[in-house]
Amino acid sequence: RGKLVITGFGIQLGRHLTRRVESELDKADVVLAMMDDFSLTWLKGKYPALIDLSLLYGKDGEKDRRQTYREMELAILEPLRAGKNVCAIFYGHPGVFADVPHAAIKQAREEGYEAIMEPAISADACLYADLGLDPGMSGLQSYEATQFLVYQRPLDPSALVVLWQIGVVGDLTCTQFHTYSDRVQALVTKLLRWYEPEHEVILYEAAVLPIEGYREERLPLSELPNASFKTITTLVIPPKLEWLADHEALASLGVTEDALL
Ligand code: SAM
Repeated sequence: RGKLVITGFGIQLGRHLTRRVESELDKADVVLAMMDDFSLTWLKGKYPALIDLSLLYGKDGEKDRRQTYREMELAILEPLRAGKNVCAIFYGHPGVFADVPHAAIKQAREEGYEAIMEPAISADACLYADLGLDPGMSGLQSYEATQFLVYQRPLDPSALVVLWQIGVVGDLTCTQFHTYSDRVQALVTKLLRWYEPEHEVILYEAAVLPIEGYREERLPLSELPNASFKTITTLVIPPKLEWLADHEALASLGVTEDALL
């Protein structure tokens, strides 16, 4: 009976691949991969029979990503159902802002197969290192940009805020691989409920190739609609450090605000 392992390639080509992941890839009868072209070519050098899941994406504006995700899930489950040991490897961490890995594992387990996820280095793991922002200092809020925009989600500006998929923000058709400045403006207008227009935000792109640097573009929030975005861009909003003491909680500890200084 086949087994499913879903794992991650990390962000930087070759450098984030763990021995554990390599051993899972070596043991697998079938390897499927979802990553950028450079990384895929590199991995194909080691696993020539590798199946490229990114071929299932449609052209910009043509195919609903939710349909693509179901096809990827099927591509992973089919060899498993045929009794093979399957290893699917996704860029970054397979369980972070990733639909297919969670869905495939859930389905495989429902069908009685052993299915596990191995963690890997995600984009936010690189972000904390490159930008020197420790999520433990202020707390962290992390949202998918479009979900944050179209639903009434709470935002705590005193925490570090990370908005994923800013490069496709506002695309409710789930078919596009770019955004438009009026959609970014809609996000900015919403963020102005909590921040001043001049609040500094950061456009972040971790380096994928070992020869390139990361992008750390700092700009005022109000300038965001004029910026350029890639599908890998993440929006980082540093915290407003205006924390108010919780006097009731301090009193229950038998201390006053002076204890915080
Ligand atoms: N599973 C991935 C991970 O572990 O990082 C995240 C996949 S999510 C569908 C895609 C989003 O992740 C992008 O829109 C962006 O916000 C973020 N992302 C992916 N690659 C990135 C990179 N090289 N630098 C910064 N953010 C990245």
